Amino acid sequence: MTHPAQRPDSTNPIRGRTTVGDFELTVLSDGHYFLDGGAMFGVVPKLLWEKRAPADEQNRILLGLNTVIVRTSQHTVAIETGIGNKLPAKLKEIYGAQQQLPRAFEAAQIRPEEVDIVINSHLHFDHCGWNTTRTADGRIVPTFPNARYFAHRGEVAHGHLQLERDAISYISDNYDPLIASGQMTLLGSDSATEPGETYPIVPGISVECFPGHTAQLLAIHIEPGGTGSGGPHACYISDLIPTSAHLDITWVMGYDLDPVTCIAERKRFYQRAIPEKWLVLFTHDHHTPFARIQLNEKGKPVVVSP
Ligand SMILES: [Zn+2]
Repeated sequence: MTHPAQRPDSTNPIRGRTTVGDFELTVLSDGHYFLDGGAMFGVVPKLLWEKRAPADEQNRILLGLNTVIVRTSQHTVAIETGIGNKLPAKLKEIYGAQQQLPRAFEAAQIRPEEVDIVINSHLHFDHCGWNTTRTADGRIVPTFPNARYFAHRGEVAHGHLQLERDAISYISDNYDPLIASGQMTLLGSDSATEPGETYPIVPGISVECFPGHTAQLLAIHIEPGGTGSGGPHACYISDLIPTSAHLDITWVMGYDLDPVTCIAERKRFYQRAIPEKWLVLFTHDHHTPFARIQLNEKGKPVVVSP
């Protein structure tokens, strides 16, 4: 079996393009990176997961870092911003981080200045790293100078706690300077949210809490016809379902803060995403950045073959 890293299209920083209604979607990549396969599949035995995600000699699997640019008639929206260039050198080496999102923007001929909205599904460093850029002289500046950034207030509060379990996941330079300057809008309340809370961002784009990976993980709904219009619908479900190898309801990650809630939230997601034929955007799938999902003859969620 060819290791995914060796596939010829692996280095293309544009991972896919599609349209949803009259919105244009472009998937840009900050590059691939590597995480321990066991951590990515929690209690699932390696014998099962390695058929879908082959591991290297260090037991690491290849993952993508997908930023989705949505062009509406009025806005250029960036969903997630990869790992960025502020990771400490040792972690950069461990993850094999490539820092290629600026190159991806160039390749797609999208200028960072055009982005007027940035949405972070949560504030783990691999989702908001290019919110800001460290300059050669060590300053931290917004990567998207004309954008309004959105994140959940509870994620910021959780990151600031620097808890033993996940302090390493939060790098405050990814959000604190934007909050201090007033460029980042914080949504919701500090406390854990009830599933189903939604917040409109711009016409056709809203966010909804799908807790489990973190207490306030946001999915991003893309509905050109408006929320609940019944028209075309895409959804960036982020780390609730990080790749197309994680579709089974119980194949949740070791990283998830509350795996039992993840299982319940995946069921809630599929209750709409499957019958309504949503285009599901995967945050960490380097080779399948988006797909529709159906149930197979055994009732298991699988990618609809193209
Ligand atoms: Zn992630």
